[in-house]
Amino acid sequence: MEKQELINRIKELKKQTGAVIMAHTYQRPEIIDLADVTGDSFKLAQVAAKENYEKVILCGVRFMAETAKAMSPETAVILPAPKATCPMAEQISPEEVLKFRKENPDVAVVCYVNTTIQLKAVCDVCVTSSSAVNIVKNIPNKKILFLPDKNLGSFVAKMCPEKEVTIWNGYCPVHNAVPVDEVKKVIDMYPDIPVAVHPECPKEIVELADLAGSTAEIIDFAKAQKGDVIIVTERQVANYLNEKIEGRKFITPCPDILTCKDMDMTDLETLYNALKGEGGEDIQLDEDIRVKAKQSIDRMLELG
Ligand code: SF4
Repeated sequence: MEKQELINRIKELKKQTGAVIMAHTYQRPEIIDLADVTGDSFKLAQVAAKENYEKVILCGVRFMAETAKAMSPETAVILPAPKATCPMAEQISPEEVLKFRKENPDVAVVCYVNTTIQLKAVCDVCVTSSSAVNIVKNIPNKKILFLPDKNLGSFVAKMCPEKEVTIWNGYCPVHNAVPVDEVKKVIDMYPDIPVAVHPECPKEIVELADLAGSTAEIIDFAKAQKGDVIIVTERQVANYLNEKIEGRKFITPCPDILTCKDMDMTDLETLYNALKGEGGEDIQLDEDIRVKAKQSIDRMLELG
């Protein structure tokens, strides 16, 4: 089917079924254009918690759909590409966390939202990249275990010097693979333009930034500038801004590296099939795990 015909059919099906499309900002621009709600993980979790939609098609990766389902169990949450996971979400097991908790009862366990629902169920509080620093500052415990992302963990530790932060050794395979020399090369080519970086990048790259923040913060920062911006995060953020804002350039160094193949799995066809009820996965969660995970997510929404 032609692209425009697919788009028209998706719009028709949206009207007929009443389904709400939520899309993470790393999705393809054509998916973002069709979405009713777009944003980073924090915003998607907030909206899922607040609105009791009947049916949500969540264009993103598995942990995002699980989070939406945990917050809104009556909603049918469909993940269009069931194989779209976040590799970082599985870099630590719940058993490892439980062992650590037993040995360190005074340490608050803080998990990045990019984790499985089973992992969220054994942590004290979730965070996203936009809320991590605030939440860690607001936790009464002095000692914190931050997991799984070592780069975001180092950023949080630096911003919260009053805390003792132990950091797990996980990472995002996309952001962590960006070579610092490649970023420096682009900065040397355009020395006068601001640089926005996601804190999942190695700290040598975060140190080069005028802004280190979540995708939502990067987009707000980029829009607020008058000229071009270097953006070091998944390439679709710059692609979208380049499509929408004329006369300015948004430049991503090494876009081939900054491509999340899991985020890329959702295209117009998978979205169309999910809306038709002929594809995607209707997310189901174990109720005990859901309730425990929801407590960690609720604390994120309260403290963040
Ligand atoms: S960009 Fe990294 S953290 Fe985000 S979904 Fe992809 S692998 Fe996971």
